Amino acid sequence: MTAAEPSPEVDALYALSDILLRRYLLRDLLWCAPCDRPKVPLLLGRLSRYYACRGGGCPHPALPAKITEHRVWNRFVRQDGTVPPGLPPADRHERLRHELRRVVVGPEMTQLWLEWWQ
Ligand SMILES: [Zn+2]
Repeated sequence: MTAAEPSPEVDALYALSDILLRRYLLRDLLWCAPCDRPKVPLLLGRLSRYYACRGGGCPHPALPAKITEHRVWNRFVRQDGTVPPGLPPADRHERLRHELRRVVVGPEMTQLWLEWWQ
C-alpha cells in the first residue's frame, strides 16, 4: 500500500482564511483514534466543510463538519450542564477548548468521545 498523494483540496487547507477557520467549531480539538493524529479543517468546494486526517492510510472518509459539530456541541452542553442556552456560536469554540482536552473519533466513525480536562 502506498501513501496517498496529498490532494489539491487538502493543500487548499492552508489557504483557508482565519475567518473561514473560525467557522470550524472543532478546530484543534478533533482527534483521529485509528491514526493517533489530529483531524484538521478541510474545505471541499466553496461551502462543504469537513474534518480529515492529512496523509494517507486513514480508514475514515472525511467527516462532514456540520453534523459532527452539532453532535459534539449537543453532547457537550448536556454533559457540562452550565452552558448558557444562548451562547453565541462565536464563543463556543473557546468554551470547548476550556473544558475539553480533545474530541476523539473512534475506530467506528460514529464514535465521538469527549475527553475532559478533569
Ligand atoms: Zn485518521
